[in-house]
Amino acid sequence: TMATIGFIGLGNMGGPMLANLTKAGHTVRAFDLSADALARAEGAGASRAASATEAAAGADVIVSMLPAGQHVRGVYMGEGAEGGGVIAAARSGALLIDCSTIDVDSARAVGAAAAEAGLLMVDAPVSGGVGAAEAGSLTFMVGGPDDAVTAARPILEQMGKAVIHTGGPGTGQAAKICNNMMLGIQMLSVAEAFMLAKRLGLDAQKLFDVSSKASGQCWSLTTYCPVPGPVPTSPANRDYTPGFSAAMMLKDLKLAQDAAATSGAATPMGAAAEGLYALFCNQGHGGTDFSGIIRMIDGQA
Ligand code: NAD
Repeated sequence: TMATIGFIGLGNMGGPMLANLTKAGHTVRAFDLSADALARAEGAGASRAASATEAAAGADVIVSMLPAGQHVRGVYMGEGAEGGGVIAAARSGALLIDCSTIDVDSARAVGAAAAEAGLLMVDAPVSGGVGAAEAGSLTFMVGGPDDAVTAARPILEQMGKAVIHTGGPGTGQAAKICNNMMLGIQMLSVAEAFMLAKRLGLDAQKLFDVSSKASGQCWSLTTYCPVPGPVPTSPANRDYTPGFSAAMMLKDLKLAQDAAATSGAATPMGAAAEGLYALFCNQGHGGTDFSGIIRMIDGQA
């Protein structure tokens, strides 16, 4: 069934996600602080709203795709200078879907405020980049109460290929940062191993042939190999053009470290990964694909 949807945050990800909702036949009212982003959304068949609250008022569903926790709290709870207040503006029973990658505490605070106001809310961060947003093949990790997740599923399925209910509020964000912490650590482990192999006179292709069939096997090796050659589609073969930028990896590693600190978890490998990606970004490589960190590990960045 078709819904009236308010869509807030029309950037690299939100823009193409919105386009898949208008394509599916929904009536979409769009809001962003950027006039360019608004114009693109209009081109994709949405109408313009003058504010987040105007996009939300009377809508059946509100979807957001914003940079960070402060923006999500601002838009939904009206904190700070964000001019928000979507929770106060939404009609009773409306469904709120935040797809941004944000800290677990902010996700839980906004989810609790929504529930308090009689609204259904899920945190639904995504795996997959701009290409997957355009193709409608994102993976959603969805935290929230059962009734909210059930209501969100058909909308999310129009923007993605997989929708995984991860548990209560905040667990979607928890899944996202735990996964990306694994990814960051694993990429560094693969990079270090190829660097060591080179110094030992072991050919990169031979290490790949062994480890892709042995216990070192992981996605960072077999799909996203950080040296050119073994996996022709990996960013290493195009001078580390992203893909997934080092700056975005650093953002997610910082969220993981913040969550570890507030929850009392010890994550020394995640901390090391955060430090190494911060160094790589501070050297001016934030826009490089995250697998490009092998150059720094190899003393060549
Ligand atoms: P982006 O910077 O391209 O887009 C964010 C948009 O939000 C901008 O257009 C900005 O103007 C708008 N915005 C900021 N504050 C606002 C407010 N108060 N009201 C309305 N609009 C506001 O970022 P993006 O790449 O689209 O990423 C969005 C989220 O998705 C981030 O949390 C990011 O970590 C996550 N993510 C991105 C990717 C990716 O490959 N780009 C992949 C997975 C997850």
